[in-house]
Amino acid sequence: SKVPSITLNNGVSMPQLGYGVWQVPDDEAAKAVGTALEAGYRSIDTAAIYDNEKGTGQAVAASGIPREELFLTTKLWNTEQGYDSTLRAFDASLARLGLDYVDLYLIHWPLPAKDAFVDTYKAFETILADGRAKAIGVSNFLPAHLERLFGETSVVPAANQIELHPQLQQAESRAFHAKHGIATEAWSPLGQGRGLLEVPTIVAIAQKHGKTPAQAVLRWHLQLGNVVIPKSVTPSRIQENIDVFDFELDADDLAAFGALEEGRRLGPDPATFSLGV
Ligand code: NAD
Repeated sequence: SKVPSITLNNGVSMPQLGYGVWQVPDDEAAKAVGTALEAGYRSIDTAAIYDNEKGTGQAVAASGIPREELFLTTKLWNTEQGYDSTLRAFDASLARLGLDYVDLYLIHWPLPAKDAFVDTYKAFETILADGRAKAIGVSNFLPAHLERLFGETSVVPAANQIELHPQLQQAESRAFHAKHGIATEAWSPLGQGRGLLEVPTIVAIAQKHGKTPAQAVLRWHLQLGNVVIPKSVTPSRIQENIDVFDFELDADDLAAFGALEEGRRLGPDPATFSLGV
């Protein structure tokens, strides 16, 4: 495939660019994921709460692509945190996906108010030991939450999937992850398409390279070392978002991107988010 892979801290390879399916209804997911697989994506990011694991699994089965060439991520939803409930929720996700293992299983949110992510992660370690997830990790964890895991569990998370785009660059988390061998995965890498792709600096950089603003933004992520999982249900955009391996941003471009930091969150703050607690 044209998409390069990164090596996670347990030796597992993960494509640096994948396809995210948040907000794709289950009955449209099979078609959308099928389009992405045809376009060359091999990594798919879903979650129990997205309610489209079934459609995602159907697309995987219909594609005929050998399982070992695919990288499937799903996530444990908030209401299921806890040791036993996690094991049950994981079984249910696998059944909906129609798979006997996932490549990466993530705790969707830390929910510090619930204080159950350590027990939840211990269930993840059991799932990893059973070979039913090839790698385990977290999402939306702040460095303090990761420190707590380091102290109370044995497996360093392979990845932390966090909100990250040019207006929320997450320098502190990225440095912390790099220091501890945790891959940084960027969610809403395109800022959900809301305004970011019209920012004049980004439009100008895109024009300079004969690419689109979305492609310039994805290229910025890739050159930073992030894993990206852009979402679209539009076939031309699905294609466009993977067509980012034939150009390179230069130092001036990267500096201009750096100046776009605004600390602007589009999603919830992980320190206080407590949906489902
Ligand atoms: P995104 O940044 O990928 O933006 C998607 C939107 O941008 C699309 O709906 C479309 O409106 C627009 N877009 C996409 N491609 C475009 C293009 N080429 N040109 C112009 N506009 C384009 O936002 P997202 O869906 O929020 O994030 C991507 C994935 O990250 C999700 O699908 C999901 O898998 C994951 N995610 C995870 C969490 C989490 O808590 N772990 C939260 C949000 C999203």
